Amino acid sequence: MDIVDLYLYDLKTKFNKINPKEYYLSYSGGKDSHFLLWFIKNYLKNKDIKIVGINTYLEYPEIRDRIYNYSDIVLLPTKKPFEIKEKYGIPCFSKEQDFYIYYYQNALRKGKEPGKTILEKINGTYKTGFNISKKARNYILSGQAHNITHLCCHYLKKDPARRFEKERGLKPILGVRASESKMRSRQYNTCFTKDKKFTPIHDLTDEILDEIYKRYEIEIPKVYSCEGIKRTGCMGCPYESWKHDTEKELKLLNNKQKDFICEYFKESYRVLGIEM
Ligand code: SF4
Repeated sequence: MDIVDLYLYDLKTKFNKINPKEYYLSYSGGKDSHFLLWFIKNYLKNKDIKIVGINTYLEYPEIRDRIYNYSDIVLLPTKKPFEIKEKYGIPCFSKEQDFYIYYYQNALRKGKEPGKTILEKINGTYKTGFNISKKARNYILSGQAHNITHLCCHYLKKDPARRFEKERGLKPILGVRASESKMRSRQYNTCFTKDKKFTPIHDLTDEILDEIYKRYEIEIPKVYSCEGIKRTGCMGCPYESWKHDTEKELKLLNNKQKDFICEYFKESYRVLGIEM
């Protein structure tokens, strides 16, 4: 047995811990959840686990097609992107920072004093954890900032999934891996989250994943082979901008898609220096 065989065998034993009828695969069309789809269908040959995707309206056409091709059920967001923009704002710096920025701006919009922790995070004086970045702070305190929010993911992805889970009494199998980011390595370090979401590939490395894709000739979306893009979230999401992936992503879009994405994210692109 080599490392790939061992990993797949170990993954099978992890799946023995769940009742397949109580879970569904949260399928994004990206590399990690597509590997899980392959594993469930081809390795385990399981027919009970439903495949559920979400059309966020911000997927690459190729990824959106995969979602419709491979999912048993496709959910839609509970609010559309421009409804979110109008009501709450748009993503900008990072999910964690935008959370505090949203509640800071929201308090000011309502003529209220922001809470103590929020104020400290914004002013950079919070002692026992992270503060927002200097760049974000200068922009927010300039008084010229556009409306920023972490709620884009909530309404496009989390809320429709949560409603589906409540309605069907199911829990998700998530293709999240600790190696993707520091936040994920803190969040996902066992096979189950506190609320029993199943995260069986939390420990899967890029090397083993690539080897499995190669050995079993699993289909990879073309967007991964273009200009070194490693992950496909939504088209042009500013959260990928620190890797300079946002500019690369914009180049892959046709004019109509680019116009839509740039109109949605334009204020954040200007602050982050992303060329449109
Ligand atoms: S990944 Fe970005 S664009 Fe997609 S839902 Fe989350 S914040 Fe919005």
